[in-house]
Amino acid sequence: MRKFTGDKLLVATHNSGKLEEIAHLLEPYAISVVSAAQLGLAEPEETETTFVGNARIKAHAAARATGLAALADDSGIAIDALRGAPGVFTADWAETPNGRDFVAAMTRAWTELEAADAPYPRRAQFCCTFVLAWPDGHDEVFEGQIAGQIVWPMRGDQGHGYDPIFQPDGFDITFGEMDRWQKNRISHRARAFEKLVTVFDD
Ligand code: IMP
Repeated sequence: MRKFTGDKLLVATHNSGKLEEIAHLLEPYAISVVSAAQLGLAEPEETETTFVGNARIKAHAAARATGLAALADDSGIAIDALRGAPGVFTADWAETPNGRDFVAAMTRAWTELEAADAPYPRRAQFCCTFVLAWPDGHDEVFEGQIAGQIVWPMRGDQGHGYDPIFQPDGFDITFGEMDRWQKNRISHRARAFEKLVTVFDD
């Protein structure tokens, strides 16, 4: 694995929450963080069919445009009985003319499972992929997943996105019912982060 040896990392996101999360992760290292939004970079179109494909598009576009190593991520939920949907379209399923509506997105997921007469348990995985790309075209990929089942009705008002219908294996509560601290220890993102930090270690 190629290590990151620079002192400045570009985070290819326009989401300030993600930037803060990564800046926090990098606090123990002498690495300063700048975002694609701060540099006024355009957001490339995510045209791939996989999380890693779309994370690669974002990371390489940012690295090429700036000459800096760039980190991008992509995440979502893949439901087995829906052949991996919504997958890379996880956020798209929530889009409405009035902004994102995740209750509508969760209702769609359940309605499609019912229409498919999917057997129980209705297996699904949350996935998170980070890609670190260098301006010379090299990249490293770090992936985290957590498996569980889709439940209905929705439960819990913690978290975000599809959390109220996802019950991770080994728990009888949904991500929506877990406190943030508990979810952040076991989530797909936490697992991907654990692998990502190794690229900054000496
Ligand atoms: P992106 O990674 O910004 O493209 O967003 C992917 C979408 O996946 C988000 O809009 C969320 O709806 C969903 N998602 C990713 N991680 C989680 C999670 O931990 N809980 C609930 N939804 C998530």
